[in-house]
Amino acid sequence: MATLNFDGHEINHSSIFNNNPLDPEEFRRQGHMMIDFLADYFLDVEKYPVRSQVAPGYLRQRLPESTPYNPEPIETILQDVQKHIIPGLTHWQSPNFFAYFQCTSSTAGFLGEMLSAGFNVVGFNWIASPAATELETIVVDWLGEMLMLPKSFLFSGNGGGVLQGTTCEAILCTLAAARDQMLSKIGTDNIKKLVVYGSDQTHSALQKAAKIAGIHPKNFRAVRTTKSTSFALSPDSLQSQIRKDIEAGLVPLFLCATVGTTSTSAVDPLGSLCQVAKDYGMWVHVDAAYAGSACICPEFRHFLDGVEGANSFSLNAHKWFLTTLDCCCLWVKDPSALIKSLSTNPEFLRNKATESRQVVDYKDWQITLSRRFRALKLWFVLRSYGVANLRKFMRSHVEMAKLFEGLVAMDKRFEIVVPRNFAMVCFRVLPKAMGMRKPKQSHQNGNAENGHYKVVVEKEEGSSNEVNEKLLESINMSGRVFMTHAVVGNVYAIRFAVGATLVEERHVIMAWKLVQEHATAILSTNSQ
Ligand SMILES: *Cc1c(COP(=O)(O)O)cnc(C)c1O
Repeated sequence: MATLNFDGHEINHSSIFNNNPLDPEEFRRQGHMMIDFLADYFLDVEKYPVRSQVAPGYLRQRLPESTPYNPEPIETILQDVQKHIIPGLTHWQSPNFFAYFQCTSSTAGFLGEMLSAGFNVVGFNWIASPAATELETIVVDWLGEMLMLPKSFLFSGNGGGVLQGTTCEAILCTLAAARDQMLSKIGTDNIKKLVVYGSDQTHSALQKAAKIAGIHPKNFRAVRTTKSTSFALSPDSLQSQIRKDIEAGLVPLFLCATVGTTSTSAVDPLGSLCQVAKDYGMWVHVDAAYAGSACICPEFRHFLDGVEGANSFSLNAHKWFLTTLDCCCLWVKDPSALIKSLSTNPEFLRNKATESRQVVDYKDWQITLSRRFRALKLWFVLRSYGVANLRKFMRSHVEMAKLFEGLVAMDKRFEIVVPRNFAMVCFRVLPKAMGMRKPKQSHQNGNAENGHYKVVVEKEEGSSNEVNEKLLESINMSGRVFMTHAVVGNVYAIRFAVGATLVEERHVIMAWKLVQEHATAILSTNSQ
């Protein structure tokens, strides 16, 4: 029998009597259903177009205008996920996803994530869940040792690590620490003089962090890189920029060096950059968001040579380390610098453990107060795979990237744009492959030969960029793969990033065939 509640809506009895949001038996039943749903998703993921094909606003047209007043069964909700949400997904777990940098998943990472959602503890300080804090200090040391980070970055030395959400946060926190350390020496009035350095390849996270940290917009330096250094930051260019800034009365504060840039996975030379920075008393942060993971393999560790001269180092375990989003591991040599900048001490959080100074209170190592128990998923990944299998996982991606690189090199219409460092290949259709129209130079009188040449080359590059852009769009429209692009040194390059959890050689070979087919089609229409 239906009853009306106080505002006249019908009450659904079955839901009222079953109104325990954590009813253990319902949890078990629905939880199993969800695991089955996801297992089927992984089985089917290759059937969906990799890049979502919906138009902006698609979902509002499909869903009701407001929250249902009465509860709906999980079965109905899951049906809607299948019908309305999945079409609006770009399938990051598809083996045909070669875009950006991957966001790898694993059963281990997923189960750790589940546990953390299940316990749902808030480990802002030690007493709020000692295991959350202590496990985090242990796994960051484990991972730091796997990377052969100097002891000075680990808790077992005088440093320490923290799991944050993303690199953006890690950079902002370290920049805030560096800023406050410097301002305590030169006086807070001088904040307008502080200068932040990166290269023109540094992730936009740095510029955002500088803005939020109150660095004057005119004092952000994106030092130019060139193809001659494969778009790595040159210590000489950095030094001459610093000298100019000092002459102008400014104060060099912070350098963000990158191991594995987003556009081309270039590696900045840490050793010599840290040397330059040291001469000026600057803080160096090393952003190894993507490529840092690979450095647990001895053959890639050399990319971190010189990290001992840096102040902080971070990588995203959610990118290439099988740990679900989000999990940015940040290590610092001087945790007290972070803590001085970020700590708060409200009365309601006071406790004996904190006062004993024998514990880590992670709220003082990050932006937010509340924090998730992220260490669980990383711990599950480290234990379930072990160093051996983690290395094997990343090496297999590097091998597949080499395979793709070899295929590109065999087709004379294409070139590799920059040397490959890890598992990402930047390539493009060459200008000469385009059945170049003869440059119209006869009526441009008075130009020196070199001038002509330059104009012609720029035109060729321009139309080559257009063709590559067209090619990429046509590949992605097919729905069979998804790749993205970068523009470096005015060249539009297609990025082929290998690293999806489920990727196999056959996917890489299929992707290359697809590129060739679409290139043939585009080049034939283009030369008509
Ligand atoms: C992905 C990436 C970032 C940004 O990472 P978020 O965790 O999304 O903030 C920064 N730097 C590099 C080199 C990256 O590859």
